[in-house]
Amino acid sequence: MNAFSRRGACPALSTPMQTGDGLLVRLNPVAGGLPPKSLIGLCESALRHGNGIMEVTARGSLQIRGLAPTSARLLAAEVDALGIIVRTGMPVETGPLAGLDPEEIADPRPLAERIRAAAEEAGLPSRLGPKVSVVVDGGGQLTMDAVTADVRLVARQIDAGTQWQMAVAGDGRTAMPLVMAEEDAARDIAVAVLRMVAEKGREAHARDLTDRQLASLASWHSVAPPSVLPDISPTRGEIGGFAAGSPSEALEIGEGGDEGAISPLVGEMSGRTEGGATERQPMPPLQSARSPIGIFALASANTALGIGLPFGSMPAEKIIDLTRHALALGVAEIRLAPGRALLFLGQPAAANQSLQQTAATLGFVTDAADPRTRIAACPGAPACASGRIATRDIAETIAAENRDLLDSSLTLHISGCAKGCAHPGPAALTLVGGENGAGLVVNGTAKTLPAGYRPGYDAARGIGRVAATIRARRHTGETTVACLTRLGAAGITEAYRRE
Ligand code: SF4
Repeated sequence: MNAFSRRGACPALSTPMQTGDGLLVRLNPVAGGLPPKSLIGLCESALRHGNGIMEVTARGSLQIRGLAPTSARLLAAEVDALGIIVRTGMPVETGPLAGLDPEEIADPRPLAERIRAAAEEAGLPSRLGPKVSVVVDGGGQLTMDAVTADVRLVARQIDAGTQWQMAVAGDGRTAMPLVMAEEDAARDIAVAVLRMVAEKGREAHARDLTDRQLASLASWHSVAPPSVLPDISPTRGEIGGFAAGSPSEALEIGEGGDEGAISPLVGEMSGRTEGGATERQPMPPLQSARSPIGIFALASANTALGIGLPFGSMPAEKIIDLTRHALALGVAEIRLAPGRALLFLGQPAAANQSLQQTAATLGFVTDAADPRTRIAACPGAPACASGRIATRDIAETIAAENRDLLDSSLTLHISGCAKGCAHPGPAALTLVGGENGAGLVVNGTAKTLPAGYRPGYDAARGIGRVAATIRARRHTGETTVACLTRLGAAGITEAYRRE
């Protein structure tokens, strides 16, 4: 097994991952964003060495596909020559507007840096699996609620000060609350979680910690580091109910793994704490995360403009065209945002409309309500050698013809093959390419055996038939997913196959 063939590894620039269409590299600039000229240079490099498709993942990473071992090395050298410093080691992620957002409760970057440094000092990154991650969320207009992580720290305003709500193994909705802590304790607890995970081996995640370990973290104090606890549970041991797959995988394009439900904590946790940590508290209700697509006020009286990549990808030429226009309008920095978007910063507010118009003309997503944001589609055929159906064409047709079907309750996944790169977890409806054409999976993943088929070229018409059935049968005020549930898998499949 060589560095290019290990699936499940994080495909950083130096260790690309083998996919159905050659090697894939994923990179995150250390500085948070890129100057426009650097992004243009990166796109040109991707055109020279890859298949010309650029992706921004649901976690906000940049991906370049279609590389070979030699071209991947050339790409890495060119990224270096462009002066782009990419993140290596364990991801400690902050929101895309961190430090710029007047609505954020706290700038998360100093704490993120302290956690990164402390983990390095403890020698943890080399002992942790490549997908173990930490999220430090300062709150504000663009939260990290949709991003899964092994350790989550979310700023909360408590009286006049800031505390960090700590949780493990999940996203803003599913993570298991651990403790509320001040900054020093929060750093120590985060490192303690990582140390416990490292002690379980490189395949481990925070979801694998035992009740006893979690209880010790929740009752953390600085004199008795919880990492000394043996790896046994006072109840029955491991936390149950997690589906296979990393929580970090759930939002990535280009990776396998299932999004698992996270079980409630088994066993009692001590609530008495010291050293800046306070009792474990329930997570505050999750507000619906704001889309990164739109205009955001910044602390500097400037604005940021978020523009989405349809289905998370765009030909590099189009990103070059948009970035050239952005440069001319005064954009100084372009950040990658979770939710498959780019954030343009530094331009005068008056430039936003022109940038939005150009983006819309080029086919980017400029409206958060755009139905394409409800569809996850991999590059498919012909961009990916493994693709059996033209995913993007099918997705564009479905979005154009069935806007009413694609409400916020629905995720439609269109996958070129059973690998399911664009959406490893289950979706209400999945179209998957295979030997028999475009299979329809109801409430499953691309790996689930389809319940019915249509020829690949005809798949959008099949979804049109499902949409027509929903229009005819939907109750007043009923969401698409509620109506699909009422129709049942058999009824949906029958509609999909109807001539
Ligand atoms: S799921 Fe899509 S991108 Fe992934 S290997 Fe299959 S066709 Fe290619």
